[in-house]
Amino acid sequence: MSQITHRTNTRPVKVGDVTIGGADQIIIQSMTTTKTHDVEATVKEIHRLEEAGCQIVRVACPKEEDALAIPEIKKQINIPLVVDIHFDYKLALLAVEGGADKIRINPGNIGKREKVEAVVEACKAKGIPIRIGVNAGSLERHIIKKYGYPTADGMVESALHHIKILEELDFHDIIVSMKASDVNLAIEAYEKAAKAFDYPLHLGITESGTLFAGTVKSAAGLGAIISKGIGNTMRISLSADPVEEVKVAKELLKSYGLASNAATLIACPTCGRIEIDLIAIANEVEEYISTIKAPLKVAVLGCAVNGPGEAREADIGIAGARGEGLLFMHGKTVRKVPEETMVDELKKEIDILAEQHYEK
Ligand code: SF4
Repeated sequence: MSQITHRTNTRPVKVGDVTIGGADQIIIQSMTTTKTHDVEATVKEIHRLEEAGCQIVRVACPKEEDALAIPEIKKQINIPLVVDIHFDYKLALLAVEGGADKIRINPGNIGKREKVEAVVEACKAKGIPIRIGVNAGSLERHIIKKYGYPTADGMVESALHHIKILEELDFHDIIVSMKASDVNLAIEAYEKAAKAFDYPLHLGITESGTLFAGTVKSAAGLGAIISKGIGNTMRISLSADPVEEVKVAKELLKSYGLASNAATLIACPTCGRIEIDLIAIANEVEEYISTIKAPLKVAVLGCAVNGPGEAREADIGIAGARGEGLLFMHGKTVRKVPEETMVDELKKEIDILAEQHYEK
């Protein structure tokens, strides 16, 4: 039985100035919801995604007018741009020419050999990779015929079929996704893919649902995959503002210690000992640390009874008390702070710690 290729041992592939694969990190992606040819709206959405921490963005390209908008979009954004093509090789060529940093297209769906070669040659000339997107819901007919229904083995077979087409043309800048909306199927498919080849994997649970349900479903599926050491980039697919996808992705990566540039909040669940309005404070502090680009752990606790000790792993925190709270670092009390200024003092200390981290 072959071993899973850990994310650190996958083949590094450059997408613009971002490297996917070959390291113990997972790059956060999202996808715009605007009509791509509406440059102003698309750029505005991409800027919001960038600000939220999105590292690579994908746009849909169903028509020529969308492909023709790529150069102008590229001029106005700062993160690599992936262009999603379905079958039309002409759109792929336009997107590559227009400055796409990666295209998502399945070579087996392009059609005639000359068309595939034209796309591959264009990508080679510009040094841009191709993402093969295997989707349980749209497996090739011969694979469904063989397996009867979408299976993990069928999905891997589909991926290998598309990979072979590219490898035969001596093209190796490949990234593969194995999306399914069934969590168990997705987990099995990614596991089998990580044993079958060492190209980096783009993770996703497709059509996972609305903000709340989709977050739980994505975290359940992707969490299981990430914990096995699989995955080099990911998108959380939500029926919601794509900025939410980025927020969920960041939070998920923090849970696995895979976010080196984001602060984490530790907040107690509250109980009958609570002495302050903890939920409001926790939300305020969470909002405040969302822009901190350092791996700080910040705790907000409802009382000082078990307070600092309950959050020993926190770099900094407050434990509330009526009138006077405690400011602590690594489980040790630093000083008492008046209740009214407790949160402001915490914010100041967070800024100092973040500065120290940036200077390192
Ligand atoms: Fe209860 Fe205090 Fe623990 Fe919060 S920190 S759960 S309020 S004992």
